Amino acid sequence: MDLDTVREVVVARERADLAALTGDAAVLAGGTWLYSEPQERIGRLVDITMLGWPALTVTDAELEIAATCTLDELDTAVLPPEWSAAELFPQACRALLASHKIRRTATVGGNVCLGLPAGAVLAALTALDATLLIWGEGGRDRRIPVAHFVLGPGRVELRPGEVVRSIHLTSAKMRSRTAFRKIALAPLGRSGSVVMGRADIDGRCAITVSAATMRPVVLEFADMPTPGELTATIMGLAREVWYDDPHGTPAWRRHVSTVLAGDVLADLREVRS
Ligand SMILES: Cc1cc2nc3c(=O)[nH]c(=O)nc-3n(C[C@H](O)[C@H](O)[C@H](O)COP(=O)(O)OP(=O)(O)OC[C@H]3O[C@@H](n4cnc5c(N)ncnc54)[C@H](O)[C@@H]3O)c2cc1C
Repeated sequence: MDLDTVREVVVARERADLAALTGDAAVLAGGTWLYSEPQERIGRLVDITMLGWPALTVTDAELEIAATCTLDELDTAVLPPEWSAAELFPQACRALLASHKIRRTATVGGNVCLGLPAGAVLAALTALDATLLIWGEGGRDRRIPVAHFVLGPGRVELRPGEVVRSIHLTSAKMRSRTAFRKIALAPLGRSGSVVMGRADIDGRCAITVSAATMRPVVLEFADMPTPGELTATIMGLAREVWYDDPHGTPAWRRHVSTVLAGDVLADLREVRS
Protein backbone atom coordinates (compact mmCIF):
# COMPACT_ATOMS: atom_id res chain seq x y z
CA MET A 1 0.00 0.00 0.00
CA ASP A 2 1.06 3.63 -0.43
CA LEU A 3 2.40 5.15 2.78
CA ASP A 4 1.13 8.69 2.35
CA THR A 5 2.79 10.04 5.50
CA VAL A 6 6.27 9.24 4.16
CA ARG A 7 7.95 12.38 2.81
CA GLU A 8 11.38 10.94 2.08
CA VAL A 9 13.16 7.64 1.40
CA VAL A 10 16.89 7.66 2.11
CA VAL A 11 18.87 4.82 0.51
CA ALA A 12 21.77 4.09 2.86
CA ARG A 13 24.99 3.11 1.05
CA GLU A 14 27.36 3.32 4.01
CA ARG A 15 27.05 3.31 7.79
CA ALA A 16 27.21 7.12 8.02
CA ASP A 17 23.94 7.33 6.04
CA LEU A 18 22.14 5.65 8.95
CA ALA A 19 22.43 9.01 10.77
CA ALA A 20 19.16 9.79 8.93
CA LEU A 21 17.40 7.51 11.46
CA THR A 22 16.16 10.33 13.67
CA GLY A 23 12.73 11.64 14.66
CA ASP A 24 9.93 9.97 12.71
CA ALA A 25 12.30 7.84 10.58
CA ALA A 26 12.18 4.04 10.42
CA VAL A 27 14.36 1.33 8.92
CA LEU A 28 13.09 -0.09 5.63
CA ALA A 29 14.31 -3.63 4.89
CA GLY A 30 12.19 -5.86 2.63
CA GLY A 31 9.15 -3.68 3.36
CA THR A 32 6.78 -6.69 3.38
CA TRP A 33 5.31 -5.69 6.72
CA LEU A 34 5.93 -1.93 6.51
CA TYR A 35 3.92 -1.64 3.30
CA SER A 36 1.19 -4.01 4.49
CA GLU A 37 -0.57 -1.53 6.80
CA PRO A 38 -0.76 2.24 7.46
CA GLN A 39 2.33 3.68 9.20
CA GLU A 40 0.98 7.02 10.36
CA ARG A 41 3.92 7.86 12.61
CA ILE A 42 6.59 7.34 9.94
CA GLY A 43 7.74 10.35 7.88
CA ARG A 44 11.03 9.01 6.52
CA LEU A 45 12.24 5.55 5.56
CA VAL A 46 15.91 4.60 5.57
CA ASP A 47 16.45 1.71 3.16
CA ILE A 48 19.21 -0.62 4.41
CA THR A 49 19.14 -3.10 1.52
CA MET A 50 21.81 -1.28 -0.53
CA LEU A 51 24.48 -1.43 2.17
CA GLY A 52 26.02 -4.42 0.39
CA TRP A 53 26.14 -6.78 3.36
CA PRO A 54 26.92 -10.39 2.31
CA ALA A 55 23.84 -12.48 3.15
CA LEU A 56 25.70 -15.33 4.84
CA THR A 57 29.31 -15.54 6.03
CA VAL A 58 30.71 -18.89 7.14
CA THR A 59 33.89 -19.14 9.24
CA ASP A 60 35.33 -21.94 11.40
CA ALA A 61 33.92 -20.19 14.46
CA GLU A 62 30.45 -19.09 13.39
CA LEU A 63 27.72 -18.37 10.90
CA GLU A 64 27.00 -14.68 10.39
CA ILE A 65 23.63 -13.83 8.87
CA ALA A 66 23.25 -10.26 7.62
CA ALA A 67 20.04 -8.58 8.78
CA THR A 68 19.29 -8.02 5.08
CA CYS A 69 19.57 -11.73 4.19
CA THR A 70 16.22 -12.71 2.71
CA LEU A 71 14.16 -15.61 4.01
CA ASP A 72 14.65 -17.25 0.62
CA GLU A 73 18.44 -16.96 0.88
CA LEU A 74 18.34 -18.51 4.35
CA ASP A 75 15.92 -21.23 3.22
CA THR A 76 18.19 -22.33 0.34
CA ALA A 77 21.60 -21.71 1.97
CA VAL A 78 24.26 -24.34 1.33
CA LEU A 79 26.14 -24.64 4.64
CA PRO A 80 28.84 -27.02 5.94
CA PRO A 81 27.36 -30.55 6.15
CA GLU A 82 28.44 -30.93 9.80
CA TRP A 83 26.16 -28.00 10.70
CA SER A 84 23.16 -30.26 11.20
CA ALA A 85 21.19 -27.51 12.96
CA ALA A 86 20.89 -25.69 9.63
CA GLU A 87 17.89 -27.93 8.90
CA LEU A 88 15.87 -25.60 11.15
CA PHE A 89 16.24 -22.76 8.61
CA PRO A 90 14.08 -24.15 5.78
CA GLN A 91 11.62 -25.52 8.34
CA ALA A 92 11.29 -22.08 9.95
CA CYS A 93 11.14 -20.15 6.65
CA ARG A 94 8.34 -22.41 5.41
CA ALA A 95 6.43 -22.14 8.71
CA LEU A 96 5.64 -18.52 7.83
CA LEU A 97 2.25 -18.00 6.32
CA ALA A 98 3.65 -16.20 3.28
CA SER A 99 4.00 -16.69 -0.46
CA HIS A 100 7.29 -17.32 -2.23
CA LYS A 101 7.17 -13.69 -3.40
CA ILE A 102 7.16 -12.48 0.22
CA ARG A 103 9.92 -14.93 1.16
CA ARG A 104 12.15 -13.58 -1.63
CA THR A 105 11.81 -10.03 -0.26
CA ALA A 106 11.32 -10.35 3.50
CA THR A 107 14.52 -10.24 5.51
CA VAL A 108 15.76 -12.13 8.53
CA GLY A 109 16.39 -8.83 10.36
CA GLY A 110 12.84 -7.69 9.64
CA ASN A 111 11.43 -10.92 11.02
CA VAL A 112 13.50 -10.55 14.20
CA CYS A 113 12.72 -6.82 14.66
CA LEU A 114 8.97 -7.32 14.25
CA GLY A 115 9.01 -9.66 17.26
CA LEU A 116 5.74 -11.33 16.26
CA PRO A 117 4.67 -14.56 17.99
CA ALA A 118 4.44 -16.12 14.48
CA GLY A 119 8.03 -15.07 13.71
CA ALA A 120 9.33 -18.54 12.95
CA VAL A 121 12.78 -17.39 11.81
CA LEU A 122 13.08 -15.35 14.99
CA ALA A 123 12.15 -18.54 16.88
CA ALA A 124 14.74 -20.66 15.06
CA LEU A 125 17.48 -18.14 15.85
CA THR A 126 16.34 -18.12 19.48
CA ALA A 127 16.35 -21.92 19.53
CA LEU A 128 19.95 -21.90 18.23
CA ASP A 129 21.08 -19.42 20.89
CA ALA A 130 21.99 -16.71 18.37
CA THR A 131 23.32 -13.25 19.22
CA LEU A 132 22.45 -9.96 17.51
CA LEU A 133 25.00 -7.29 16.59
CA ILE A 134 23.24 -3.93 16.84
CA TRP A 135 24.64 -0.74 15.36
CA GLY A 136 23.86 2.39 17.35
CA GLU A 137 24.28 6.09 16.84
CA GLY A 138 27.80 7.54 16.74
CA GLY A 139 29.39 4.19 15.79
CA ARG A 140 28.40 2.51 19.05
CA ASP A 141 27.82 -1.27 18.80
CA ARG A 142 26.22 -3.69 21.21
CA ARG A 143 25.44 -7.40 21.24
CA ILE A 144 22.40 -9.07 22.77
CA PRO A 145 21.17 -12.69 22.74
CA VAL A 146 18.11 -13.02 20.48
CA ALA A 147 16.41 -14.71 23.45
CA HIS A 148 16.55 -11.39 25.36
CA PHE A 149 15.70 -9.13 22.42
CA VAL A 150 11.95 -9.74 22.17
CA LEU A 151 9.96 -8.42 25.13
CA GLY A 152 6.45 -9.28 23.91
CA PRO A 153 4.33 -9.32 20.75
CA GLY A 154 5.80 -6.57 18.53
CA ARG A 155 8.00 -5.21 21.34
CA VAL A 156 11.76 -5.49 21.01
CA GLU A 157 14.88 -4.16 22.74
CA LEU A 158 15.73 -1.64 20.01
CA ARG A 159 16.57 1.96 20.91
CA PRO A 160 16.00 5.01 18.69
CA GLY A 161 18.48 5.17 15.82
CA GLU A 162 19.61 1.54 16.22
CA VAL A 163 19.86 -0.96 13.38
CA VAL A 164 20.27 -4.71 13.63
CA ARG A 165 23.40 -5.38 11.55
CA SER A 166 23.74 -9.17 11.81
CA ILE A 167 22.89 -12.37 13.63
CA HIS A 168 25.64 -14.69 14.89
CA LEU A 169 25.47 -18.44 15.56
CA THR A 170 28.44 -20.34 16.94
CA SER A 171 29.80 -23.32 15.07
CA ALA A 172 29.20 -25.47 18.19
CA LYS A 173 25.49 -24.62 18.21
CA MET A 174 25.29 -25.17 14.44
CA ARG A 175 26.59 -28.71 15.04
CA SER A 176 23.80 -29.52 17.50
CA ARG A 177 20.95 -31.86 16.59
CA THR A 178 17.52 -30.34 16.17
CA ALA A 179 13.87 -31.30 15.85
CA PHE A 180 10.85 -29.28 14.73
CA ARG A 181 7.06 -29.49 15.06
CA LYS A 182 4.32 -27.05 14.07
CA ILE A 183 0.55 -26.97 14.28
CA ALA A 184 -2.08 -24.55 12.96
CA LEU A 185 -5.87 -24.55 13.21
CA ALA A 186 -6.14 -24.75 9.40
CA PRO A 187 -3.73 -26.39 6.91
CA LEU A 188 -2.72 -22.96 5.55
CA GLY A 189 -3.41 -21.07 8.77
CA ARG A 190 -1.02 -19.05 10.88
CA SER A 191 0.91 -21.24 13.32
CA GLY A 192 -0.78 -21.96 16.64
CA SER A 193 2.39 -23.44 18.07
CA VAL A 194 5.91 -24.09 16.79
CA VAL A 195 8.29 -26.10 18.97
CA MET A 196 12.00 -26.51 18.21
CA GLY A 197 14.43 -28.71 20.10
CA ARG A 198 18.22 -28.53 20.25
CA ALA A 199 20.55 -31.21 21.63
CA ASP A 200 24.06 -29.81 22.02
CA ILE A 201 27.24 -31.77 21.43
CA ASP A 202 28.06 -31.40 25.17
CA GLY A 203 24.76 -33.10 26.13
CA ARG A 204 22.74 -30.00 27.03
CA CYS A 205 19.26 -29.63 25.64
CA ALA A 206 16.94 -26.69 24.93
CA ILE A 207 13.30 -26.74 23.89
CA THR A 208 11.94 -23.49 22.41
CA VAL A 209 8.20 -22.88 22.32
CA SER A 210 6.96 -20.14 19.98
CA ALA A 211 3.83 -18.96 18.15
CA ALA A 212 1.84 -20.25 21.15
CA THR A 213 3.62 -17.84 23.46
CA MET A 214 3.92 -14.05 23.70
CA ARG A 215 7.58 -14.40 22.71
CA PRO A 216 9.85 -17.41 22.13
CA VAL A 217 10.29 -19.25 25.43
CA VAL A 218 13.48 -21.28 25.86
CA LEU A 219 13.45 -24.19 28.31
CA GLU A 220 17.02 -25.24 29.09
CA PHE A 221 18.12 -28.56 30.57
CA ALA A 222 21.58 -29.74 31.66
CA ASP A 223 20.80 -33.12 30.07
CA MET A 224 17.98 -34.52 27.96
CA PRO A 225 14.85 -34.24 30.18
CA THR A 226 12.42 -37.10 30.65
CA PRO A 227 9.01 -36.65 28.94
CA GLY A 228 7.47 -36.12 32.40
CA GLU A 229 9.98 -33.40 33.31
CA LEU A 230 9.40 -31.60 30.03
CA THR A 231 5.61 -31.72 30.36
CA ALA A 232 5.79 -30.49 33.96
CA THR A 233 8.05 -27.60 32.91
CA ILE A 234 5.68 -26.49 30.16
CA MET A 235 2.58 -26.88 32.33
CA GLY A 236 4.36 -24.86 35.01
CA LEU A 237 4.83 -21.81 32.78
CA ALA A 238 2.90 -18.76 33.95
CA ARG A 239 -0.60 -18.29 32.51
CA GLU A 240 0.43 -14.90 31.00
CA VAL A 241 3.03 -16.63 28.79
CA TRP A 242 0.37 -18.07 26.46
CA TYR A 243 -0.76 -16.04 23.47
CA ASP A 244 -4.42 -15.41 22.68
CA ASP A 245 -5.66 -14.52 19.19
CA PRO A 246 -8.04 -15.96 16.56
CA HIS A 247 -5.41 -18.59 15.69
CA GLY A 248 -5.79 -20.37 19.03
CA THR A 249 -6.85 -19.95 22.65
CA PRO A 250 -4.20 -20.00 25.40
CA ALA A 251 -5.53 -23.31 26.80
CA TRP A 252 -5.38 -25.00 23.37
CA ARG A 253 -1.94 -23.56 22.71
CA ARG A 254 -0.59 -24.85 26.01
CA HIS A 255 -2.04 -28.30 25.35
CA VAL A 256 -0.73 -28.65 21.79
CA SER A 257 2.68 -27.23 22.76
CA THR A 258 3.00 -29.96 25.38
CA VAL A 259 2.19 -32.63 22.78
CA LEU A 260 4.55 -31.12 20.16
CA ALA A 261 7.35 -30.79 22.73
CA GLY A 262 6.95 -34.49 23.57
CA ASP A 263 7.35 -35.34 19.87
CA VAL A 264 10.39 -33.07 19.56
CA LEU A 265 11.98 -34.74 22.60
CA ALA A 266 11.27 -38.20 21.16
CA ASP A 267 13.00 -37.15 17.91
CA LEU A 268 16.05 -35.84 19.78
CA ARG A 269 16.27 -39.03 21.83
CA GLU A 270 15.88 -41.26 18.76
CA VAL A 271 18.78 -39.63 16.93
CA ARG A 272 21.00 -40.08 20.00
CA SER A 273 20.30 -43.82 20.47
C1 LIG B 1 1.35 -12.15 3.41
C2 LIG B 1 2.27 -11.95 4.59
C3 LIG B 1 2.46 -12.98 5.48
C4 LIG B 1 3.31 -12.82 6.58
N1 LIG B 1 3.46 -13.87 7.45
C5 LIG B 1 4.23 -13.71 8.53
C6 LIG B 1 4.38 -14.78 9.48
O1 LIG B 1 3.79 -15.85 9.36
N2 LIG B 1 5.20 -14.56 10.55
C7 LIG B 1 5.86 -13.37 10.73
O2 LIG B 1 6.61 -13.21 11.71
N3 LIG B 1 5.72 -12.37 9.86
C8 LIG B 1 4.92 -12.50 8.78
N4 LIG B 1 4.79 -11.45 7.92
C9 LIG B 1 5.41 -10.15 8.27
C10 LIG B 1 6.76 -9.90 7.56
O3 LIG B 1 6.62 -10.10 6.16
C11 LIG B 1 7.92 -10.77 8.00
O4 LIG B 1 8.02 -10.77 9.42
C12 LIG B 1 9.25 -10.32 7.39
O5 LIG B 1 10.30 -11.17 7.76
C13 LIG B 1 9.61 -8.87 7.71
O6 LIG B 1 10.81 -8.56 7.02
P1 LIG B 1 10.95 -7.28 6.09
O7 LIG B 1 12.37 -7.26 5.65
O8 LIG B 1 9.94 -7.24 5.01
O9 LIG B 1 10.67 -6.15 7.16
P2 LIG B 1 10.10 -4.62 6.99
O10 LIG B 1 8.68 -4.69 6.61
O11 LIG B 1 11.05 -3.90 6.06
O12 LIG B 1 10.33 -4.14 8.46
C14 LIG B 1 9.63 -4.69 9.55
C15 LIG B 1 9.95 -3.88 10.82
O13 LIG B 1 11.26 -4.14 11.28
C16 LIG B 1 12.07 -2.96 11.24
N5 LIG B 1 13.37 -3.39 10.74
C17 LIG B 1 13.59 -4.19 9.66
N6 LIG B 1 14.90 -4.50 9.56
C18 LIG B 1 15.52 -3.88 10.60
C19 LIG B 1 16.88 -3.83 11.03
N7 LIG B 1 17.86 -4.48 10.40
N8 LIG B 1 17.17 -3.09 12.12
C20 LIG B 1 16.18 -2.43 12.80
N9 LIG B 1 14.88 -2.46 12.45
C21 LIG B 1 14.56 -3.18 11.36
C22 LIG B 1 11.32 -1.98 10.35
O14 LIG B 1 11.59 -0.63 10.68
C23 LIG B 1 9.88 -2.37 10.62
O15 LIG B 1 9.45 -1.81 11.84
C24 LIG B 1 3.97 -11.59 6.80
C25 LIG B 1 3.78 -10.54 5.89
C26 LIG B 1 2.93 -10.71 4.80
C27 LIG B 1 2.73 -9.53 3.88
